[in-house]
Amino acid sequence: MLDEPVKPHCPKCKGKPTTGQRKLTEGERDKLTGNAWKAAAARFDTAYVCKTCSAIYSHQNGFSTYIARLKN
Ligand SMILES: [Zn+2]
Repeated sequence: MLDEPVKPHCPKCKGKPTTGQRKLTEGERDKLTGNAWKAAAARFDTAYVCKTCSAIYSHQNGFSTYIARLKN
């Protein structure tokens, strides 16, 4: 268990699923405003999006940290 790499997982969805997760794109990042944009920009290299709930989060060292909600 400890030897398995921890995949990006949604911090908001029940059960913290690893399926349906993908990298945040630059276009999506730039639709954000204010503090959400700043947080996403600062963590862009580790930023992911959950396809189920549209949460943007940073995944680092096995932990997912919620940043903001993806804007359509
Ligand atoms: Zn989710």
